Amino acid sequence: MHTQIYVLRFPKDTSDRPFVYRLVKDYDLEFNILKADILLQREGMMILEIKGAKESVKAGLDYLRGYGVSAQRLASRIRRDESKCFQCGACTGVCPSGALSISRPQMTVLFDAERCTGCNLCVPICPVRAMEISLDRDMALAEDLA
Ligand code: SF4
Ligand code: SF4
Repeated sequence: MHTQIYVLRFPKDTSDRPFVYRLVKDYDLEFNILKADILLQREGMMILEIKGAKESVKAGLDYLRGYGVSAQRLASRIRRDESKCFQCGACTGVCPSGALSISRPQMTVLFDAERCTGCNLCVPICPVRAMEISLDRDMALAEDLA
């Protein structure tokens, strides 16, 4: 499952189109609206977290772009909520960059934010949702883009 955050900008003549519905129905994507500013007959902006198979996300974005919608991916920053993490190690098996690793012999799970690429693979794996997507910087960037 691929999870990424996008800033979508809608031309004013598309504000009444059911884009999000089509993304779910035709492209089997899940979404989470993080911010939306859409008014009829005006340019709109939406920050959307999109989840789905990589090919489906690409196809869905191509569909949007076909209507003149611009889609810009936001790099996300990952943080670990230390109060939730109980050191189970499940996340280390999916981390492709080595940002999450097990320190032996103590068997503690280390998180090196400098090595994190923001791929988000660890977020759904963690049983207690200790790995979180930090939106502070993304929201600030989105405000700049607005
Ligand atoms: S977001 Fe990706 S690179 Fe960063 S810690 Fe999670 S799995 Fe590793
Ligand atoms: S999967 Fe979650 S609880 Fe387990 S070590 Fe990773 S961050 Fe901690």
